[in-house]
Amino acid sequence: DPQLNPIYTFENFIEGDSNRVARRAGKTVAEKPGASSFNPLVIYGSVGLGKTHLAQSIGNETKRLHPNKVVLYVSSEKFINQFQDHSRNNAINDFIHFYQLIDVLIIDDVQFFNRAEKSQDAFFAIFNHLHQSGKQLILTSDKPPKDLEGVQERLLSRFRWGLSADLQVPDYETRIEILERKMKNDGLEMPKEVIKYLAYNINSNVRELEGALISLLAQSSLNKREIDLDLAKRVLRNFVKTSSKEITIETIQKMVCEYFDVPYDKLLQKTRKREIVQARQITMYLAKAFTKNSLKTIGEHFGGRDHTTVIHSCQTVKDLMDTDSTFRESVMELQQKVQLAAM
Ligand code: ADP
Ligand code: MG
Repeated sequence: DPQLNPIYTFENFIEGDSNRVARRAGKTVAEKPGASSFNPLVIYGSVGLGKTHLAQSIGNETKRLHPNKVVLYVSSEKFINQFQDHSRNNAINDFIHFYQLIDVLIIDDVQFFNRAEKSQDAFFAIFNHLHQSGKQLILTSDKPPKDLEGVQERLLSRFRWGLSADLQVPDYETRIEILERKMKNDGLEMPKEVIKYLAYNINSNVRELEGALISLLAQSSLNKREIDLDLAKRVLRNFVKTSSKEITIETIQKMVCEYFDVPYDKLLQKTRKREIVQARQITMYLAKAFTKNSLKTIGEHFGGRDHTTVIHSCQTVKDLMDTDSTFRESVMELQQKVQLAAM
């Protein structure tokens, strides 16, 4: 069935305290579909915690162990759309009949049933028939069944007949294992300290963890740069809300001086040498972007210039970034340095 994607397996669904019950129940169901007390098996948990992966693994494993069984994976949205199509064509009985021939029915994201009363009626008929015939049902939901709003009570009470198992955010060790497995599967490597850094800082869900890993790999290949902690920190700024440190005008001044190899006192004096003027303008621009200081205060930090000079500098930098790619790259690189310093 095209709805089952073979990339999702139990083998690559890393077990941890966060998912042990659900994962083991899923294995049992795949081994003995319809014959355990886990019927229906309801897997619930918030976004990105592995509901689809686990539900798909159950489907794939069932097919592998029981090639003659009819296994169907469908999202509740697709189920509803199909139902509505059949309903328009006066073919609801065909629809129900089709589903009643399935041995293992997996419906993903049943929370979306809340906007579909008639689809719920059809699902109720299908559920009853399958359950009575000893067929297996597997459902996933983004919340525990008791909190499913807009789902008929008679359905909810049937969801409670079997086992409801939740997925939690994997703990730190499990997150490390998940990252290591992904890397290994792709034949890639990265320093352990970077893996630890990602696993430690991304503790929302597995999808975000993977997203961070993918960004990091992309950044590394785009910039032709080895993956190291520095790069990881830079990439992670887009993923985690960091309690950013207050960055000062002086800090930015020193960073720019170091970057362009300009003496600190020259930056503040009235030198008109082109490199120094540009460095000064960029510093003002960054000070405006990264600090909460007024234009007046920023001007004062450059040997008592007034706020119109600061405005003019910021505008010059913006214009140059549009027209001069070397200049733009320097500013972008400095921006990243300042951002990192604020982490
Ligand atoms: P959900 O359906 O709950 O929103 P998904 O099943 O789509 O979440 O999982 C999001 C991503 O995280 C997928 O790429 C999935 O393979 C991965 N994932 C989730 N849990 C695990 C796990 N325990 N081991 C390995 N990968 C996982
Ligand atoms: Mg999903």
